[in-house]
Amino acid sequence: MRGAETSRRIDSFRLTLLLCWLLTPLPWQNSAAAESADAVILLYHHVSNTTPPSTSVSPDRFEEHLDFLERQGYVVLPLQEIVEALTSGAGLAAKAVGITFDDGYESIYTEALPRLERRGLPFTVFVSTQAIDDTYANFMTWDELRDLESRGGTIANHGRAHAHLIRREAGEAAGDWRRRVSDDILTAQGRLDAELDRPLRLFAYPYGEFDASLEVIIADLDLIAFGQQSGPIGAVSDRRQLARFPMATGFDSLSSLAEKLRTRPLPVEVIAPVSRVLPAGADAPVLELRVPDGAYRRDALRCYVAGQEPALIRWNGDVATVRAQRPLGPGRGKYNCTAPSDSERGVYYWYSHLWIQPRDDGSWYAE
Ligand SMILES: [Zn+2]
Repeated sequence: MRGAETSRRIDSFRLTLLLCWLLTPLPWQNSAAAESADAVILLYHHVSNTTPPSTSVSPDRFEEHLDFLERQGYVVLPLQEIVEALTSGAGLAAKAVGITFDDGYESIYTEALPRLERRGLPFTVFVSTQAIDDTYANFMTWDELRDLESRGGTIANHGRAHAHLIRREAGEAAGDWRRRVSDDILTAQGRLDAELDRPLRLFAYPYGEFDASLEVIIADLDLIAFGQQSGPIGAVSDRRQLARFPMATGFDSLSSLAEKLRTRPLPVEVIAPVSRVLPAGADAPVLELRVPDGAYRRDALRCYVAGQEPALIRWNGDVATVRAQRPLGPGRGKYNCTAPSDSERGVYYWYSHLWIQPRDDGSWYAE
């Protein structure tokens, strides 16, 4: 009898344990609900009605963006915190967003800062220090940048002279180019360190232009770098080419913002080519991507090219060979590749590949 009773008690104990186990959320279930490994970084330049539309968002539209982020439960985090979480593998709040501005224009101080400060939202401004040192018109001053720092902003490195860093000067040897470019970036960092309380060691490529050799310099300087190719970022993202979604008039509607905020990074491996700088007069470039299995419909991968029909895609196992239907021409081009989520409507996995091409005579385009 006693044996049978003990056995019943043990059974009931086991049942209780089983129930507890079934009813208690597991740690990873909690973290899956509350955290994600991804973030979307928004990139603005001017917040103004009077600056070029291609690099501007109106103050009213900017306000609408901030309203939207708050209303939809997005969590705006300091850029440094996002980068650290991605680097360490720690989770981020679900729906994590970073707000960045490039160049340090005056309208960030007069229009964006008060709106961000009122809501207590953090943000980062990437500045080119020569524009501040030489007090260019329409740029913030060091006093304004210090004030901005004390009111929730952080300042980071956008180079000294806002140069096209991938370009070589006439007859410039590789070693001389490396020294010149390192000097531009380090001089800017030195000025930020001298003028500000807590500048970041984060870099944004001027014009969003980078290639493999520039990435080596960024790695040597122990910097993390952002481009201007679109897309979200995550643990899979390369720290020398972190994507941001550029915000500009015509591409800044709330529906467009919502679509971008819902994206996830597509974890591609670029197999070829090594360089994203195309020869003068190049035909449409061929991009080879390994696209591993994931929570997306790989068979529905599309790669969009501005001003053209979508690129042609040929599959060989998990490797996609992507090629635009026409040459990209001089300037910066992109293949924006997306694959729909296999379970969440309206969610796209996204990878944007940057191309850079000189003019047909081999000279560089002016900006
Ligand atoms: Zn810039």
